[in-house]
Amino acid sequence: MPETKLKPCPFCGSKDIRLSIKRSRYPYWYTAMYCYSCNCYGARTRITIEKDGFISKDEIEKSANAKQEAAIAWNRRSENETD
Ligand SMILES: [Zn+2]
Repeated sequence: MPETKLKPCPFCGSKDIRLSIKRSRYPYWYTAMYCYSCNCYGARTRITIEKDGFISKDEIEKSANAKQEAAIAWNRRSENETD
């Protein structure tokens, strides 16, 4: 699957969009968050993946699907904002 190309930030037009991956633990499941954000802090988007069990760091990094979804969500957002 080809990587989704990120659109520039809808607020400042920057193309320097950072991806951060955060893991968190809840009582019954584990989640990983894919978060795209811009340096201007005006725009941010998140995709959360949940799994009934432990998610290893490796597994998260290899989850191209979630990364792709986060990129699509980012692009959808920037379309809305620049309308
Ligand atoms: Zn920005």
